[in-house]
Amino acid sequence: MNKRTAVIIGTSHAAAQLTISLRQEGWDGDIVMIGDEPFWPYHRPPLSKTFLSGDKSINDLLIRPTALYDKQNIQFRQGLVTAIDRNQKKLTLLDGSTQHYDKLALCTGARARKIDIPGSQLSGVHYLRNISDVQGIQAHIGTAKNAVIIGGGYIGLETAASLKKQGISVVVLEVADRILQRVTAPELSTFYSRIHTEEGVKIYTGVTIKAIVGTTCVESVSCGQGMTFPADLVVIGVGVIPNVELAIAADIEVDNGIIVDDYCRTNDPNIVAAGDCTNHFNAHYNRRIRLESVPNASEQAKSAAAMICGIEKAYHSLPWFWSDQYDLRLQIAGLSHGYDHLIIRGNIQEGRSFAAFYLQKGHLIAADCVNRPQEFMLSKRIIEKKLTIDPSLLANELMPVNLLL
Ligand SMILES: Cc1cc2nc3c(=O)[nH]c(=O)nc-3n(C[C@H](O)[C@H](O)[C@H](O)COP(=O)(O)OP(=O)(O)OC[C@H]3O[C@@H](n4cnc5c(N)ncnc54)[C@H](O)[C@@H]3O)c2cc1C
Repeated sequence: MNKRTAVIIGTSHAAAQLTISLRQEGWDGDIVMIGDEPFWPYHRPPLSKTFLSGDKSINDLLIRPTALYDKQNIQFRQGLVTAIDRNQKKLTLLDGSTQHYDKLALCTGARARKIDIPGSQLSGVHYLRNISDVQGIQAHIGTAKNAVIIGGGYIGLETAASLKKQGISVVVLEVADRILQRVTAPELSTFYSRIHTEEGVKIYTGVTIKAIVGTTCVESVSCGQGMTFPADLVVIGVGVIPNVELAIAADIEVDNGIIVDDYCRTNDPNIVAAGDCTNHFNAHYNRRIRLESVPNASEQAKSAAAMICGIEKAYHSLPWFWSDQYDLRLQIAGLSHGYDHLIIRGNIQEGRSFAAFYLQKGHLIAADCVNRPQEFMLSKRIIEKKLTIDPSLLANELMPVNLLL
């Protein structure tokens, strides 16, 4: 009997989970994972954290030992997929070779958004998405004295913290009038500005970047308002773009990500998708969203694998995320967009441990918890299960977390 083949495009968080889940769901055909990076699936979050700061090696990053994929008979094929022929169920790779599939999973993720300003091609200017990006940055560590980070989002700030830890003088430039504007309340932006300032990182907001200046290597970054910052290393972290071009070319429905249903199906019954490249309807927030987070990639992959095996396992997870900077672990439950009231538990003005609860019409919709794992777990539970809580209790530090509900 001819065995059927499941092919996964992408070799990262979604793919790593999907391949293993396929075997768990009973797929006994071939499994081929195709990715353009020369590595088995690895953890991406440490790239701006412990890997950049030199505390972890590439081996430490691997999501699973390679022996496990061997044991499960999962093949890894390195290459860039350039076309999907849905009629013939055939993929074409950049080197001209092809790959047949019976079932296909798109786990193509996202790539760093590039900026097009004078000097952005100079040596010493980097983005941060892959191991090779970090290796490029690390080549300057030891000699670089001044780093400029363009973008005050989580990746920019984590990169700032990691470079600072290695003795480099760091400036963060943010075009918006506060850091983390897209994702948090102003109170959180103020908190992180204070922390970075205390740690010796300089943050400038409301800054227009005019040019990256240098002859072959970067020498400075020139901004509006007549400001120039010396730099021998520039890291740009201005968001990501989902990798959806393959899907678009194959007439798979895309709208800010590949459109998937609750079971991670695309508009082709033989093709599922999972992770950063997808756009799904999230019942917790009653709207379609595209998430950029490891938990989302892993959970969607479980539903996608089940679907390939003909089993309906709906994906209904609450979005959650984390960020590590210095001694701070931020854990975020839910999405705060649309909140009308913020309650802070703890000392956000001077301390390094607090929880910020986002409410909408009296209901908890999200929480940012800094060094507060208990509040994070509580918030996740409340939001997931739509439980009600007396908002006046949340701010009361005298009330132990386990008695809040
Ligand atoms: C520096 C950094 C820090 C982060 N920190 C956190 C964090 O703290 N917490 C958190 O939850 N999330 C974090 N994230 C986000 C998280 O890493 C992503 O959400 C996650 O990696 C998404 O996984 P994915 O499998 O969907 O896609 P990706 O990780 O983007 O992987 C997609 C893979 O597919 C490959 N690919 C794409 N197209 C093709 C093609 N045509 N042919 C072959 N291969 C292809 C890509 O090269 C890539 O290897 C961070 C991301 C970065 C970059």
